[in-house]
Amino acid sequence: MYTSRPADFAYHRAGDLAEAVMLLSEDGDARALAGGHSLLPLMKCRLVTPAALVDIGGVAGLADITEEGGSLRVGALATHASVAASALVRERCPLLAETAARIGDPQVRNRGTIGGSLGHADPGADYPTVVTALDGKVTVTGSGGEREIAAADLVVGVFTTSLERGELITSVTVPATAAGSGGAYVKHKHPASGYAVAAAAALVTVEGGSCTAARLVVGGVTGVPEAAEAAAAAVVGAASSDDGALEAAGAKVAEALSGALDDTYASGEYRVHLAGVLAQRALREAMRRAG
Ligand code: FAD
Repeated sequence: MYTSRPADFAYHRAGDLAEAVMLLSEDGDARALAGGHSLLPLMKCRLVTPAALVDIGGVAGLADITEEGGSLRVGALATHASVAASALVRERCPLLAETAARIGDPQVRNRGTIGGSLGHADPGADYPTVVTALDGKVTVTGSGGEREIAAADLVVGVFTTSLERGELITSVTVPATAAGSGGAYVKHKHPASGYAVAAAAALVTVEGGSCTAARLVVGGVTGVPEAAEAAAAAVVGAASSDDGALEAAGAKVAEALSGALDDTYASGEYRVHLAGVLAQRALREAMRRAG
């Protein structure tokens, strides 16, 4: 039966990171609460019924955005709006700022956080695809201390991450985009929510008019961000304006996509087709920006 009222739960507001980790580690049925824009709708539909919420919104220092040694470190509590508006992110990693600006609507961007988006691992979410294409790293803290996870290893299934019980994402690190490199993210979005039905993120380097390196990641199709390595390899060595190489890359995208999601939004076959088209567009735009 549908109800708009969550089941009963205990509420804790963590004073600091150590307290949040302790509360989450002690109770396997507890969930972290950040912006609440994914968790609370699920609780209202009773699709998840955590025994307790650990509100991390008051933990100091988790929303900072800084530059460290050629990389950007974005705190887990940085909202999508703050990432989109950050002069540092816009200058040093424009792809990340653009991605944040295209998530949902203003209400979602003002409350939703980068840590919540990655921790939630929705197959249609934008950050997991883009942070993987950027070769980002996720720093997490748990009862055993701090560790780093490559973004490519974070999302392991639909709504499933490699985080251990009690672990919290504390920040996301992405390399600043170097001169001669360019990135682009293209999504076919659901018209109501903005979530990706299928999407592609590309990051390329162009030297002397030719592509010397390329990364391509597809989101929204199989449930996890998929690195389309053969497709990316198809443009390496080609001129940045080589339409044939882009078409060859698009045709190879399907090789990376087995087990496409098939739901009310789109069939698996349509998603795979879209991915090939979006990949070409993302690569073309990334080449233009790099070159
Ligand atoms: P919460 O809802 O608070 O938490 C989500 C999950 O992550 C929970 O399981 C929670 O325990 C866990 N979590 C939270 N913080 C952490 C942490 N630091 N470490 C580990 N786990 C954590 N997203 C898109 O990408 N693209 C869209 O176009 C888009 N459109 C949307 C439209 C609507 C109408 C809505 C309601 C949401 C949309 N979203 C979209 C999702 C939105 O970006 C969410 O805000 C985001 O996915 C979750 O972030 P949050 O801070 O709200 O997390």
